[in-house]
Amino acid sequence: MVRLVPESTAPTTLSFVIVCGHRSIRTIIHTDSMDMNTKQSVLVLGAGGFIGGHLVKRLKREGFWVRGVDIKLNPFAESQADDFVVQDLRDADGVRRVIDRRFDEVYQLAADMGGAGYIFTGEHDADVMHNSASINLNVLDTCQKRGVKRIFYSSSACMYPEHNQLDPDNPNCAEDSAYPAAPDSEYGWEKLFSERLFLAYHRNYGIESRVARYHNIFGPEGTWTGGKEKAPAAICRKVAEASSRGEIEIWGDGLQTRSFLYVDECLEGTTRLLRSSFTGPVNIGSDEMVTINQLVELVADIAGKKLTIRHKDGPLGVRGRNSDNRLIKQRLGWAPTQSLRTGLEKTYAWIEQQVLRRAA
Ligand code: NAD
Repeated sequence: MVRLVPESTAPTTLSFVIVCGHRSIRTIIHTDSMDMNTKQSVLVLGAGGFIGGHLVKRLKREGFWVRGVDIKLNPFAESQADDFVVQDLRDADGVRRVIDRRFDEVYQLAADMGGAGYIFTGEHDADVMHNSASINLNVLDTCQKRGVKRIFYSSSACMYPEHNQLDPDNPNCAEDSAYPAAPDSEYGWEKLFSERLFLAYHRNYGIESRVARYHNIFGPEGTWTGGKEKAPAAICRKVAEASSRGEIEIWGDGLQTRSFLYVDECLEGTTRLLRSSFTGPVNIGSDEMVTINQLVELVADIAGKKLTIRHKDGPLGVRGRNSDNRLIKQRLGWAPTQSLRTGLEKTYAWIEQQVLRRAA
């Protein structure tokens, strides 16, 4: 339970103490009421997270009035949202408080998630399913009651059937290959349920739901340590920590394949989809497929290091995965084009800085 207790008020800035259980943290809520009434308003749920944090910055550059909501503040950068509310979205009353108007655009990114070490070990299955499904049920119910017209939902490539992703050189992730459903994780099953929920609200209540299936998004200001980080961040960290002719550990034989999309291109696809007339589901991902060994070599090359890879057992996910971009090109006339290397250079530079700062 999180309570916002007003501390002081000024015309455009409110200072609050957030009471969260027995802990309290102070946050500033920038509330420019004139802007709120004159500009188009956007709600970003999961704004304290990696993609949500970048999305808020982008929407501010586009000139929107933005409210961000998350159960926590972004640990890497102060939010640029006009209004940032710390709220647990599993709490239906709290959701009604933060969705208090007919926002012009809503982006639903909040989820209980992490990398392979979090979602493929089985240890967090009940929490992942319960927490993310509760958020999606609450958010859609309130959006429908408040008359929200347009809402984006971030599903995941983890909802694709495992049996189509056994061949690392030839995975099938075409949108219409989703059924008969057989994801390899409970995270994927929850995404599949919630995709259907968003599409059901579209059919029954006319909400303009837009569903994207993200494929491995990466970039600066994402989780890079602690167990919830995903492969590109974990590899950048390991390479940054290694000596110039050192060794790094990789889960599995490294021959499993994936594609990785830089966060800026993810946001381009996300906003294009929400503002289009296409409901989806549609893949938002890169189709530059690499093995995990190749990903390590690329990062090591960027870092100027000659590393040996040591393979060990660990949670892996499917054997092969690549984004199939035929549908997005056909329906939006757009698909990502940036090379993996370009995005990795920016990401490695940021993670190296974090590693150095922590060591200092
Ligand atoms: P993230 O973990 O950085 O962001 C998710 C945010 O949701 C976090 O800040 C978290 O605090 C918040 N959240 C979790 N539970 C909450 C709750 N009960 N109430 C309020 N906020 C809560 O992850 P991300 O990488 O930014 O991903 C954003 C979305 O995109 C997620 O839905 C994720 O499943 C989806 N997705 C991401 C990727 C990827 O590679 N990053 C791939 C596929 C799908």
